[in-house]
Amino acid sequence: MVRLFVAGDLSPDAAVLPTLDQSRYLTQVMRLKIGDELLVFNGRDGEWRCTLTEVLKKGVVLRADEQVRPQSCGPDVELLISVVKKSALEFAVEKAVELGVRRIRLVVTHRTQTSHVRMDRLDAIAIEAAEQTGRVDLPMIDEPVKLTDLLDGWDGQRRLMFCDETGGAAAGPALHAAGEGPWAVLIGPEGGFSPEERDRLRAMPLTAAVSLGPRILRADTAAVAALTLWQAAVGDWDR
Ligand code: SAH
Repeated sequence: MVRLFVAGDLSPDAAVLPTLDQSRYLTQVMRLKIGDELLVFNGRDGEWRCTLTEVLKKGVVLRADEQVRPQSCGPDVELLISVVKKSALEFAVEKAVELGVRRIRLVVTHRTQTSHVRMDRLDAIAIEAAEQTGRVDLPMIDEPVKLTDLLDGWDGQRRLMFCDETGGAAAGPALHAAGEGPWAVLIGPEGGFSPEERDRLRAMPLTAAVSLGPRILRADTAAVAALTLWQAAVGDWDR
């Protein structure tokens, strides 16, 4: 069944108004007709079975029939990733959403090449990935911030899986040893971390500095590998 993310509220018999683009997708690509059903979520009210009730020039109208899944969210893990080149960043965002992150924070490190990002484009990619992957929550994506500022305001509870291309501990044991708690996974830019950044990150009490193996990965590959390791070690894959 088609799955759609909408901004509006979902409650019994509520009229739901997809955007014009979504409306076109429903009627022209998916060929839905009046009376057809689809699944809709908004990140707050769980997942709803809806029926297409009207096709208007300004878009289609859906009726929310029944909640089929309650609202839930995955484990508290954030991806902190340096702004990297567009295609790699878009790939990382899509895969991070599929892999269940709760939030994505874009960071600017010493060697980050650009801080220009099309946030609307990344949001659209995250929405599509959430629709496709079946999750009922939508991760938020934060505008780029300097890594130093982020570390200055670090939440004292949040553990940090620091992916260090110069080497670190094996991920599984290091993640288990860090204990329970919210997490963030940090991936650097194409040029890697500067020595000062590395020293500061390693000196933080809640840092697990880990290796992703003997090969240097591109940032987008590293994000997928790191989140996979995290999910397998301390995430929700065994639940
Ligand atoms: N230019 C750097 C590589 C940067 S790769 C160099 O040649 O050393 C981009 C980011 O991916 C790194 O900052 C790190 O966070 C992550 N990464 C890539 N390969 C890794 C590995 N083998 N172990 C840990 N992290 C890795």
